[in-house]
Amino acid sequence: MQFRFSRRGFLSGLGLASLSGGRGGRVAAYQGAATDVYADLGVRPFINAAGTYTALSGSLLLPEVRAAMDEASRAYVSLGELQEAAGARIAELAGAQAALVTAGCAAALTLATAACVLGEDEEAIRRAPDTDGLKNEVIFLKEHRFGYDHAIRNVGAKIVEVESREDMQSAINDRTAMLFYLNFANNRSPMTRDEVARLGKEKGIPTLIDAAADLPPVGNLRAYNDMGYDLVAFSGGKALRGPQCSGILMGRKDLIHAAYLNGPPHSNSVGRIAKVGKEEIVGVTKAVELYTTRDHEAEWEAWDEAVRHILATVAKVPGVRGERFVPEIANAVPHAGIMWDPKRVTLTRQDFVDALREGDPRIEVRPSDPGEPRLEIGVWMMEPEDHLVVATRCREVLEQALA
Ligand SMILES: *Cc1c(COP(=O)(O)O)cnc(C)c1O
Repeated sequence: MQFRFSRRGFLSGLGLASLSGGRGGRVAAYQGAATDVYADLGVRPFINAAGTYTALSGSLLLPEVRAAMDEASRAYVSLGELQEAAGARIAELAGAQAALVTAGCAAALTLATAACVLGEDEEAIRRAPDTDGLKNEVIFLKEHRFGYDHAIRNVGAKIVEVESREDMQSAINDRTAMLFYLNFANNRSPMTRDEVARLGKEKGIPTLIDAAADLPPVGNLRAYNDMGYDLVAFSGGKALRGPQCSGILMGRKDLIHAAYLNGPPHSNSVGRIAKVGKEEIVGVTKAVELYTTRDHEAEWEAWDEAVRHILATVAKVPGVRGERFVPEIANAVPHAGIMWDPKRVTLTRQDFVDALREGDPRIEVRPSDPGEPRLEIGVWMMEPEDHLVVATRCREVLEQALA
């Protein structure tokens, strides 16, 4: 018997009640969390009430992605041929000239920088991270410095930090390899994302935008290509729900080709430490296909419903109120914020986090200000019914702390 992934099945269970088909008529039912392998190691899984956080293992593979990876794992292919074909498919879906599957968004940043600094020059590719004599400066606005700077510096690139549009313009010189934009910083930046894309075009300098966690909305998948960025990077293991170790770099055909030469399967390259396998390449391609065809409105409504339920449940506790919020960029989906009056509910945020983490089932929530009497819950990476459990547990913890 072969079960098909149907739109209806996806909507009713956010994709998790569906079944994955195997080869030769063998079908393995997906039965929620596969906890045996973890139990065997003494590791206790949790309900993800946080969102797409790498250290919390990101997201769960969609069943169709899991099935595609399983199939991919059963035959040998040339990685070069597979990268080219998968890249063409992804590029078509995302409105880019070309695309490359990488081992995460951070790896995409490294390969993008390598493409701009080292290009296709065999000798330069071998010599990196020694970039003496090459165009090796990457210009960053100060607000865009972030925890993934290292992915860019690995190549042997030097980050030149600037504070304004004028600064950026005057920092551009004949050693400038690339202008970098962190999409997450757009709303606190002295330059908007499209200004930087335009400046790059004007000066003939390649531009890279890191939009790792910036799906949904689905339109973002092509928005930065359309805006004129030469290179655009996304995570495959966040909202796309592809493999954890996957990412996408897309953009100008010549730069994508150079990026490919600077990484796997080419052994003597700076990107070779971030290997992608056939399973990741096939998996993230399937994830992009699914992302461009799934019903985003229905998904959003399901998240809203989960938020409403959690907020209504905790509001029954005296001194507790809740609010729905949607972060502006990155994880831009409905979340539940729970606030309490510390005089009536004698609980710190840390007490709350610990109680959920140590309870049964274990629950992890979204990181937020540790000093505030406020807990933030992301519902979009939950399994079906998880929101019911989370609502009940939150109410219990709050009630137990009533003064
Ligand atoms: C998550 C993230 C990354 C890293 O993505 P991986 O796919 O985990 O490598 C890079 N940049 C930003 C802004 C991110 O949020």
